[in-house]
Amino acid sequence: MSHRLLASFWARFVAVFALSLAPLFAVCAYSQAAPIPATKLLYGVGKIVPIPSSIPHEEGDMVDKRILPDLRWIAKRYPIFVTDGYSGPLPNGEHAGCNRCHTRGSDHYNGLAVDIVPLNGDGKCDTTWNGITRLALWAEPAQNKPRAPFRWVGYDGDAGHGCGNHLHLSWNHATAAEYTLAQWVEVFAANVKGAAPTAPTKPPEPPPPPRPSGGVAQASYGGVSARVD
Ligand SMILES: [Zn+2]
Repeated sequence: MSHRLLASFWARFVAVFALSLAPLFAVCAYSQAAPIPATKLLYGVGKIVPIPSSIPHEEGDMVDKRILPDLRWIAKRYPIFVTDGYSGPLPNGEHAGCNRCHTRGSDHYNGLAVDIVPLNGDGKCDTTWNGITRLALWAEPAQNKPRAPFRWVGYDGDAGHGCGNHLHLSWNHATAAEYTLAQWVEVFAANVKGAAPTAPTKPPEPPPPPRPSGGVAQASYGGVSARVD
């Protein structure tokens, strides 16, 4: 075989070899990360409801029903156990969630945030947290840049959060006073099984840059602060 023929042979061999590996890499990429659902702004009447048994949770935990389909989607893919959702008074005079344990302006007061620990965890930051760490990195690939529909993600790098403590997830929503329901909530667009009926939607607006705590209220996003847990 001449040098030219040999070179040509090797070039073809390498090309065919690389092509044959391509699908393998594609499969690996899919198997390592959950798909990224598109999101929509969900209008319509919210309601604080008990979290159903399909989403592992502490007894008595409640959330705005509009984020239940997203929570179901997450619970199917990550080993979550919700330790707090809505925190505030109920129409019947009782109280849901922990009492004033969250930061002022927290989305827990609107039922649009959850605190999460591993299902069957032992309280320590060990391998039982691997799934929660994957979820945190999926929801917030870079610090303070959460992926829609999440408004704030509290984990490693955020005081009072992280492996061995808890993961906080908040959903984007219209400004709402404490203990009131937001006019809209940003949620996954894909209707998973049991998803809420489709409501009128409009394209999501880009989230505003974070502002220092104590600033004036924003037009569309409530209470963004350095720490909203
Ligand atoms: Zn929280």
